[in-house]
Amino acid sequence: MNSLYKEIESIRGRFAADLESVSPGQESEILRHRYLGRKGALNALFKKMAALSVDEKKEAGAAINELKNELSLQLEEKNASSIRQVKNREKSDFTLPGYPFPMGTLHPITTAVSEILGIFSRLGFDVATGYEVETDWYNFGSLNFPENHPARDMQDTFYTESGHLLRTHTSPVQTRYMTSHQPPVRIVAPGRVFRNEAVSARSYCVFHQIEGLYVDKKVTFRDLKGTLDLFGRMYFGKSAKIRFRTSFFPFTEPSAEVDVSCFLCQGKGCRVCKQTGWLEILGCGMVDPNVFTSVGYNPESVTGYAFGMGIERMVMQKFGIHDIRLFYENDKAFLSQFY
Ligand SMILES: [Zn+2]
Repeated sequence: MNSLYKEIESIRGRFAADLESVSPGQESEILRHRYLGRKGALNALFKKMAALSVDEKKEAGAAINELKNELSLQLEEKNASSIRQVKNREKSDFTLPGYPFPMGTLHPITTAVSEILGIFSRLGFDVATGYEVETDWYNFGSLNFPENHPARDMQDTFYTESGHLLRTHTSPVQTRYMTSHQPPVRIVAPGRVFRNEAVSARSYCVFHQIEGLYVDKKVTFRDLKGTLDLFGRMYFGKSAKIRFRTSFFPFTEPSAEVDVSCFLCQGKGCRVCKQTGWLEILGCGMVDPNVFTSVGYNPESVTGYAFGMGIERMVMQKFGIHDIRLFYENDKAFLSQFY
């Protein structure tokens, strides 16, 4: 019996020494095999219990089991600390290549807006902003829309329950700005606009516009042509040409649609310009005297021009994008092309 206890103590001592010499993460399985395995030192002790009396067996069994638990625990701790050490070593290996983090990019609409605003600010225009929720007066009335104009129809305009509406164009920024500023006024107004239209590849319920307005004494249509001609060349390239076609808008008289020569085919005719050699980019005209009256300006003493362009359409033309909905789907594959 006594020799059994001596052997327990001796195993405990040997195990402690072996454990000390074990290198991290390598030999603990050998030790487990040597001490706790089927042919290990502890099983050999259990076998020696056969010669003992029943009471002695009970006592010796408990002592050996205690040793067994103790050794298992120490081995587990050793393993855990080995894993920690290996992990720490990995953490501090500064020679490993870093993980690539995907970077976000500017949305193509954001890029186009800031590029266009940059051009007009170099031409002396200030940036003005307005409200996305507007009154009927600023969105239509102040801009010389007759009461029965089709654009006021419920089909085209989103109305709120409070009787306001989501602006259908950025033009209310013009009249808001003029009611609080005296001429000369020279502004560009970027923003989101809303139309209650069927969503398709060509039209969406939300899109972006940039509005321009210049009011002063003796502003002429020639100033408008000169400004837009310069803008066309700065945005689309030096060889870009501009042409004006007569049109109609309630808030300008005379009014014109402006086309730029197709930058893809240089005017020869291609799929994007539908073989015409021209791309429609904006609407413009001389501010209607009724608009000046509605904001408290004297139409006898000031004149001015205004223009407005749809950003989505310009970006679609520039990059050959065929579906306007792509701008609003947040599809990473689409957006990552504009890195
Ligand atoms: Zn073309």
